[in-house]
Amino acid sequence: MADEKAAAKNVILLISDGASPGTWDAASYYQHGELGEQAYDSFSTKGYMSTYPLTTSSTPTNTLEGELGYDPTQVWNAAPAKGMFGNYPAAFEGYEYLRSGITDSAAAGTALATGVKTYNNAISYDNFGQPLMSIGDYAVESGRALGVVTSVQWSHATPASFAAHNASRNDYEGISKEMIESGKASVIMGAGHPFYDADGEFRIPTSAGDYRYVGGAETFAEVLSGNTDYTFIDSEAQFEALANGTFSFGEGDKILGTFRNGSTLQQGREGTGMGDQLVNMPELSIMAEGALNVLSQDDDGFFLMVEGGAVDWAAHANDTGRIIEEQISFNETVASVIDWVEANSSWEETLVIVTTDHGNGLVLGPNAVTVPFQPVQNNGQGEIPGVSWHTGNHTNELVPIWAEGPGSELLAEAATMIDPGLANYEYRGMGENYLDNTDVFHVMMRAMGLDNVAVTDEVAAAETAAIALAGAASTSSDLVFA
Ligand SMILES: [Zn+2]
Repeated sequence: MADEKAAAKNVILLISDGASPGTWDAASYYQHGELGEQAYDSFSTKGYMSTYPLTTSSTPTNTLEGELGYDPTQVWNAAPAKGMFGNYPAAFEGYEYLRSGITDSAAAGTALATGVKTYNNAISYDNFGQPLMSIGDYAVESGRALGVVTSVQWSHATPASFAAHNASRNDYEGISKEMIESGKASVIMGAGHPFYDADGEFRIPTSAGDYRYVGGAETFAEVLSGNTDYTFIDSEAQFEALANGTFSFGEGDKILGTFRNGSTLQQGREGTGMGDQLVNMPELSIMAEGALNVLSQDDDGFFLMVEGGAVDWAAHANDTGRIIEEQISFNETVASVIDWVEANSSWEETLVIVTTDHGNGLVLGPNAVTVPFQPVQNNGQGEIPGVSWHTGNHTNELVPIWAEGPGSELLAEAATMIDPGLANYEYRGMGENYLDNTDVFHVMMRAMGLDNVAVTDEVAAAETAAIALAGAASTSSDLVFA
């Protein structure tokens, strides 16, 4: 029941998973020798976003009361902190604050997908252990097509939040089974291929667990036999054909693209740092273009989430070379999505949002143990910038967000909170305003003219979704939300 006058026919949300503000700076310095040269730097709306979860518990705590937040006065506290934070000098009280109360990708993905803060581990589930309607559900209900594309396993937390519902992100088999059997997404693309290892080498699966990212052995056999809604593709040539329009598929066909790697496009390969990339892997940008070609067949429009999923993994590993590689791959993907919009759609009908789900690594300048909040140091184009890492985990940092197209002005309107400490990073040209990750859901829904159908009361939403899911289970048809 899309509002006929809804401005945004299409919404494309691009998420560089686990990219601290310093990660974006570092990649731009390496890529261009300066900031401001990325395709999305010209977007009309830019600012910051908070990402904290409702609770850091890994299971529901059955309350709406959150004990976490983002407090600028604690963030910018440059008082020395004694001792160590794991293997890292504690350095400053502000760093200690930013390393605490952190979200995981499941709670962060759920906040973006449903507008509801929840516990870490939740895949579009609330803190009472009930499923939530996601923007993926609402988009499909409005007649739009849904797509999720990632450089990591397609049943991983971020894509899962937009196309599945589960109490735990670790139930990969349950999540991927739901994604396949519901048929809700018209395009699903990512890693997790049971026949290939992290280096893209063929392997014979030896246990049922090897099939966990693709619905389990039985469901995957059904996929390969053509007994599901999906056309299965896995070769680089097939992804290329989908992107350049030579892949033949019928109207209404759905694509399940699982490129030939169990782990990631590139980041999970042997070794560390840049160089010696795997061959025979598609580019993330090619996958996104192919997804757009499929989704745009739907006259009612589409919602597409594209994730640079392994930026986060490179950050966990504190691998500077590889995180720059991954962030550049993401940046190139945004550029090709922008090209696609300008060639095949327009900024009158397509909203594009670029962001991350949370920081990771607390990426700062080379001397940031003694110089509080020292910015990343530019060493020029093609040179690894000066950085230091201050955690091997996620952070509570504000993260950047950019938007262009119908509804982007709503994002600017929602950014009513101010963090004066961001004046330290004036060189980014991103201002000092921020919104919360849950605001992004509401902006996207309003942009698509769907805010009238969104159930804003969390408990009511959970009940509605639970009833619909129960109904769907009993008829084993597509999930239809009343
Ligand atoms: Zn994440």
